[in-house]
Amino acid sequence: DSSSGHNDNSFFKMPTIKFTQLFINGNFVDSISGRRFETIDPRTEEVIARVSEGDKEDIDVAVEAAREALDRGPWPRMAASERAKIMVKWAELIEENAEEAAALDSMDAGKLYYFNKFAEIPSATNALRYYAGAADKIHGKVLKMNGDFHAYTLMEPIGVVGHIIPWNAPSVSFFIKVSPALAAGCTMVLKPAEQTPLSALFYAHLAKLAGIPDGVLNVVPGFGPTAGAAISSHMDIDAVSFTGSIEVGREVMQSAARSNLKPVSLELGGKSPLIIFDDADIDKAVDLALIGIMSNKGEVCVASSRVYVHEGIYDEFEKKLVEKAKTWVVGDPFDPKSQQGPQADMNQLKKILSYIEHGNREGATLLTGGNRVGNKGYYIQPTIFSNVKEDMLIAQEEIFGPVLALMKFKTMEEAIKSANNSKYGLAAGIMTKNLDTANTMSRSIRAGIVWMNCYFVLGSDVPFGGYKMSGFGKDLGLEALHKYLQTKSVVTPIYSSPW
Ligand code: ADP
Repeated sequence: DSSSGHNDNSFFKMPTIKFTQLFINGNFVDSISGRRFETIDPRTEEVIARVSEGDKEDIDVAVEAAREALDRGPWPRMAASERAKIMVKWAELIEENAEEAAALDSMDAGKLYYFNKFAEIPSATNALRYYAGAADKIHGKVLKMNGDFHAYTLMEPIGVVGHIIPWNAPSVSFFIKVSPALAAGCTMVLKPAEQTPLSALFYAHLAKLAGIPDGVLNVVPGFGPTAGAAISSHMDIDAVSFTGSIEVGREVMQSAARSNLKPVSLELGGKSPLIIFDDADIDKAVDLALIGIMSNKGEVCVASSRVYVHEGIYDEFEKKLVEKAKTWVVGDPFDPKSQQGPQADMNQLKKILSYIEHGNREGATLLTGGNRVGNKGYYIQPTIFSNVKEDMLIAQEEIFGPVLALMKFKTMEEAIKSANNSKYGLAAGIMTKNLDTANTMSRSIRAGIVWMNCYFVLGSDVPFGGYKMSGFGKDLGLEALHKYLQTKSVVTPIYSSPW
């Protein structure tokens, strides 16, 4: 089954779209209803492919396959080093096919091709290798008990896992969910976002080539309220890992509670502050602020959407920032000159433009940008507002677009208060050369990750996830591995212990 990609691009030969069906039990199959949905190229607004639309009954079949693979299949039973070998093989296949994977995400999500190829896909394969390395280092403890007993703990796979992932980083979100679950010996059903199903299906194909046994990894594209809800409410899924919005996170947690009380982990976005003190290198701060919000067209959960600048350097900072924003290149994500591609879909475009309208109406000052670029493709100008008040919508809500709210502060106490004045707590950035300021700030900000004189730097070994309403349960690091394990304590008598 295939539909062909566009060949209308002068920068790059588009890949042919080879995989548009559900991947269940090691095979590509049509959905039971036979329905398909269109996935749209945000550069052209044209249909890239018609993808099989999974619904509740397809999730049921996928869960059955995953359950069978868990209960009787080789994956949880094989030597962990063997699982690791297969995961590494998968990483190698992805690297060999990195250009195709990168192009799929560019076509489907409007992401910069070179960024995908040189940053996102390497992060994805790094995660796979990191958890492959952890697979044979999962062990419990031996516990000396009071009396004539001792106990030991077994770290067992939590079971059949459901992953629900978003569209802004289709490859990275796929691998930060799937890799630790695989290492733990789990089997799984993943639903990619309806906007970006293509790379996930391609990875499923490569998983089969790498030797991941049938039923271990099932990929079911479909919509949230149907296929997504079927995962969170499923009676035979043992845990759900979700990345997306607060509203949907709430739904997922509620349906998990209402069904079988499966544990959930939620990564729910942010409104992350970048705080720039008056001893910071201004040019570097300008670069970080711009990269922090405009990268991936602002469709980044850790985007530095609130920038607080010390009054001592505010005017110079603002002037330089606006000058630089005006040189920021918005264009086709395959063009190596582009710094910003189109927003992922029409909904995003409309939502972002409506936030910009709000900003104008609420009395913030539009310093640059504010409009759509052209009338084909979902491109938006890099947009910066100043005179933003704490309670304005553009200072409180996650816009998920290239829109920055610039604010001024006098004292460190004020900066801390403002930075923490958010329902979110995913990330924060601090720029200062003063060690005391750095230490106080990093401890005072309620966020899951604090970047000191840098931004966006993530690593496989560094736990990532929110405080407050940005969610709970980390991705990455060994903490994420433990989301997919459960502890069993085994107690046994010891009749003649010398001590
Ligand atoms: P965003 O706002 O980033 O699009 P969403 O939270 O809407 O994020 O979507 C993230 C993922 O959640 C997508 O895969 C989407 O299909 C899925 N989803 C949306 N609604 C539901 C729902 N009611 N139950 C489960 N998953 C859902």
